[in-house]
Amino acid sequence: MATTMSRSGVERYVAQAKEAMAKRAAHRARVRRLKFDTIAVHGMYSVEEAFSGGQGGIIEPIFPSTSQAYRDSDEMEAALSYQIPTWCYSRIHNPSVFYLEETLALLESYGCEADATGLCTSSGMAAIKQATEPLLAKSRQGAEEINFVSASQVYGGTFQLFNLRMAERGAQVRWVTEPWRIEAWEPLVDDNTRFLYAEMPSNPQQACFDVAALASLAHAHGIPLIVDATIATPALMRPLAHGADIVVHSLSKTAGSGGDAIAGGIVARHNLISKHLADEVRADYALWLKLWPFRDSGPCMAPSVAHYILNEVRTLRLKVAQLSRNTMVVAEFLSQHPRIDRVDYLGLPHHPLHGLASRYMAVVDDGTPAFGHLMSFDIKGTAAETRRFFDALERTYRATDLGRIKSVATIPAISTHQQQGEEGRKLAGIQPTMVRLCVGAEHPHDTIADLDQALAKI
Ligand SMILES: *Cc1c(COP(=O)(O)O)cnc(C)c1O
Repeated sequence: MATTMSRSGVERYVAQAKEAMAKRAAHRARVRRLKFDTIAVHGMYSVEEAFSGGQGGIIEPIFPSTSQAYRDSDEMEAALSYQIPTWCYSRIHNPSVFYLEETLALLESYGCEADATGLCTSSGMAAIKQATEPLLAKSRQGAEEINFVSASQVYGGTFQLFNLRMAERGAQVRWVTEPWRIEAWEPLVDDNTRFLYAEMPSNPQQACFDVAALASLAHAHGIPLIVDATIATPALMRPLAHGADIVVHSLSKTAGSGGDAIAGGIVARHNLISKHLADEVRADYALWLKLWPFRDSGPCMAPSVAHYILNEVRTLRLKVAQLSRNTMVVAEFLSQHPRIDRVDYLGLPHHPLHGLASRYMAVVDDGTPAFGHLMSFDIKGTAAETRRFFDALERTYRATDLGRIKSVATIPAISTHQQQGEEGRKLAGIQPTMVRLCVGAEHPHDTIADLDQALAKI
């Protein structure tokens, strides 16, 4: 008798949740038809929600609570068997994090036929690790030599993760040094290749690749293409629309340009391609990650962090468009300076990959070509002269950071790419005279003045 009663109680909660979920799905479908800026500004939070739970607040409330309480045992049972939407415990899910996850998913899948799910993580590295690790699981026989193929021009942390940590787990990375050439990828892919991986544009070398062609190659082998689009942000490029399966982000960078928090995100298309994953996993990979491996490893995002990043993302297009314009002005100045050997910025018409990048990167909805605010250049001279220039910068911060609203510079060989050693740096094309500059929102004439006086002190 007691069991029957409790079962009907659970069913009642499940029925109520179905109704609420149908309402939410209808609202989401309406939001998905809005323009990029509108989605960025409002996300899934609505006037209706503001009055139903948010005291009329026009900005999403922060929910710092560690856990969700249930009305009774039936609701608890329905929630913890994942039969109704729940956030139960903040390591698994949280309403503030949900707002950001939905906004990210909607922006990354903007203009893309396929829908996608977002998952926020404690950092960009956690996003990359979470997104890739399940794809490298051994099959039941466990005999095969698992590998994956990646562009060699990747973030320093990613390089180490792929080169060392994945090797410790028995998965071999195969590096592609010229990722813009599809022919360079082809011979490295075999039956035991689990995914293809690349950054666009890469940090700091500005490598890029043909997203659609690489997605086709991956799919021809029944494996997914994963793109780190941290530097581009969805305001400039949305790889899912060109066939990529998973996009990973460090939200610590341009997406969170104010510099308040370390944060990461994964957006995975529904029904992504992977012959190595079960169908129910492929169906909604990001949701599966959240409910299973992510839950068990715990790299969750704090609710306050989600709130910071959400506020930043509202003005993402505006900021990225302006930062790109500033960077173009600075890149033109540097490329004409006698003490500079080479400026790597995809926006410069003479950059060998400018044409390829132009096919993928532009300000969303208005189509103006734009290439972000990261560039690198080589000082004409020695490593010591490079350091003299670097030490003479007055307003530009010396930091291993990028994506900031303030201009920041670093020497990759002694900072971000120090740990990978000379061989690794050579593979990634990092010279000791290379300076990475991420141009901020200062007036570009002031940024140029700072660079100019430092160059005069070499
Ligand atoms: C910084 C960065 C990462 C790592 O992100 P964290 O948030 O620092 O963990 C990954 N990819 C790229 C391109 C980055 O710039």
